[in-house]
Amino acid sequence: MTVPACGDVLIGGHWVAADKGTYQITDPATEEPAGHAPACSAAQAMAAAGAARAAWDNGSWSALSGQERGALLRKAAEQFKARMNDLVDLTIAETGAVRPVAVSQQVAAVAVRLAKFADLAALSPEEALPPRELAGPGARGIAAGLVVREPIGVVACITPFNFPMTNCAGKIGAALACGNTVVVKPAPVDPLGVVELCRIVDSVLPPGVVNFVCGPGADVGEALTTSPNVDMISFTGSTAVGRQIQQAAAARMKRTLMELGGKSANIIFADADRNKAVANAMQVWTFHSGQICIAGTRLLVEASIYDEFTAGLAKAAASLTIGDPREPGVVVGPLVSAAQRARVEQFIAQGIADGATLACGGKRPAHLRRGYFIEPTLFTNVRNDMTVAREEIFGPVITAIPFRDEAEAIAIANDSDYGLYGYVWSGDTARALRVARALRTGTVQINGSPMNADAPFGGYKQSGLGRDGGRYAIEAYSELKYIGWTA
Ligand code: NAD
Repeated sequence: MTVPACGDVLIGGHWVAADKGTYQITDPATEEPAGHAPACSAAQAMAAAGAARAAWDNGSWSALSGQERGALLRKAAEQFKARMNDLVDLTIAETGAVRPVAVSQQVAAVAVRLAKFADLAALSPEEALPPRELAGPGARGIAAGLVVREPIGVVACITPFNFPMTNCAGKIGAALACGNTVVVKPAPVDPLGVVELCRIVDSVLPPGVVNFVCGPGADVGEALTTSPNVDMISFTGSTAVGRQIQQAAAARMKRTLMELGGKSANIIFADADRNKAVANAMQVWTFHSGQICIAGTRLLVEASIYDEFTAGLAKAAASLTIGDPREPGVVVGPLVSAAQRARVEQFIAQGIADGATLACGGKRPAHLRRGYFIEPTLFTNVRNDMTVAREEIFGPVITAIPFRDEAEAIAIANDSDYGLYGYVWSGDTARALRVARALRTGTVQINGSPMNADAPFGGYKQSGLGRDGGRYAIEAYSELKYIGWTA
């Protein structure tokens, strides 16, 4: 079987052979080759940053109006939309996403994000401050002025493996809408869809505005974090790598946007709509095999319903079809790689060793001889100080912890190094809102409220720095300048 192969990286509008050739991408469901990706050198990553700097300096993009940039981004969104169907099989082969997730969240979402930022590009970059008469000892006269939003310069977009194209589209869409130029560096394990996304966007934009580098090691990303030509690093990934990047960025005070890990609480009160809460808990547990930063992996259940609720979940897990993500009806696909599965298995072993009860799962499914699968796994009798309740596992593993009352639920939820997301289920709206306000997380969803693309998105504590999402992303990828004058 022939598989897609790309041996080139994109530097200054030219696709050039990667210095170190190619490396294999593996289909996580079959363990067969899914393609070959370019392995570039650190020097090529530096060259890509230099090309992005040259494109920024020549004004071919940064000097366009927001409307002009929006029109080109809209064209890119349309061209991507026309290619979407071709990209679904590739996406399943490299990410292991089940078909419905590949179609909607991995592929269609890319066109939606590009189109959204095409609209946001037209937001006015200037705001007049009303004149004020100052008569203090330090300042006298009429103060009037403009707040001007300007691009930051060159943005390195470093992305994780779980939603490769969607995550990249959110970053380049926002960065480009503001007038920045970009260098894209996807996760090594599944970069082939991102190659196609960059090909499409580059074909519409002036040369050098979008650059693409890729390689199996950390050196390519590291080169971008140290390059003097990179002004901002937009990073989504683990907190451990985010910390390293933040340190590298500090040397030149590079701007950073950090979207990091999570260990989110999913709080179920006894008065919640039980059916909806179970369905939602199942969804956040198994969606993309738990490889999602916002997963509610710490299930906090009011003590009076804890046994019944967790028994219901364990029973429901048995009905989930695990298998080849291409097969209709399969809801749980593989983890992305052997390394990711090994990591998840280590956490499961740790949970057992620490005395948590394995209520279901915990093993590789017996009927699947190949692929990096793990059964949906539920730990009960978990204490919040156990490793499985503290560390992000990034697999289909949740831990259920009982709580006595509202105050204890809030205390347990907030007793975490992370602060990305939270879920609250209660029939008492006033209480649900009180709890939502008390949670130290960037987002809280009450009673299954859907995600909102206009809302700010990001983490408190070690889940990140800054906010993405809608117009908040436009602020994140911009510098603000005040121009004051006096009559
Ligand atoms: P990762 O941190 O291992 O890698 C992310 C990216 O950083 C990859 O492109 C990788 O090659 C690159 N990288 C690694 N070392 C580097 C270095 N020293 N310098 C520069 N770049 C480097 O993350 P992952 O395993 O690909 O993804 C899973 C993680 O992503 C989870 O922690 C998850 O929570 C997080 N994530 C967060 C969000 C969010 O919005 N908060 C969204 C999706 C995923």
